[in-house]
Amino acid sequence: MADTPTAPVVVIGLGRFGTALAVELDRRGTEVLAIDGNPAVVQKLAGRLPHVVTADSTDAEALHQLDITAFHRAVVAIGTDIQASILTTALLSDLGIRDIWAKAVNAQHAGILSRVGAHHVVFPENDMGERVAHLLSGRILDYVEVDADFAVIKTTPPRDVVGVPLRESKLRSRWGVTVVAVKPQAPAPGAPRGFTYATPDTVLAYGDIVLVVGAIDKVERFAETD
Ligand code: ADP
Repeated sequence: MADTPTAPVVVIGLGRFGTALAVELDRRGTEVLAIDGNPAVVQKLAGRLPHVVTADSTDAEALHQLDITAFHRAVVAIGTDIQASILTTALLSDLGIRDIWAKAVNAQHAGILSRVGAHHVVFPENDMGERVAHLLSGRILDYVEVDADFAVIKTTPPRDVVGVPLRESKLRSRWGVTVVAVKPQAPAPGAPRGFTYATPDTVLAYGDIVLVVGAIDKVERFAETD
């Protein structure tokens, strides 16, 4: 089984997070084996997912019977039962699953998941809280943190940078950010209505929508300045 973006994924724990993840992966054409210990949960999802089974993921024999080692990617989406989440992650690690993602409910849980073998720990409640905080402040219309200190945001430009070509707007030296694409608020006749790549000749207008990349504090300052 190759580790391509569409390589099969086993999703364990079908609460809100696990279900949303499994259904979206399936919709995108990735083969998903979805597992939950509660038969009622499995029954409810049987019509929405092609491969959904009841099993206790802390039981090594049960995982063996499901031929779990055929999967190179697994997501442990159990949250509330921290013990089950940790045991399952440790078992998958012992079985040599190459790419283990695990959901944490707090920082301590996240630390333990990493120590028992999770390669990626996600913190959906925290991450979404931070994201919404960004969306609520300044003019940030969308926000994706791509690394601990780097983000892509969708916003409108400060007055300071409009009306001159980007090459003259000192975006890098004054603001420390890069504008990568622009969607004009009032496109010229015949011009594209959606986003186009920004070039050094692009002239922004007040109210245009821009995609900006840079360090988090820099993109925040850009989006919070009128
Ligand atoms: P969410 O907050 O995303 O709704 P929960 O932690 O509430 O997530 O739900 C996790 C799911 O994991 C539940 O449906 C539960 O039945 C399942 N689960 C818990 N322990 C195990 C286990 N040992 N094996 C398989 N599934 C489990």
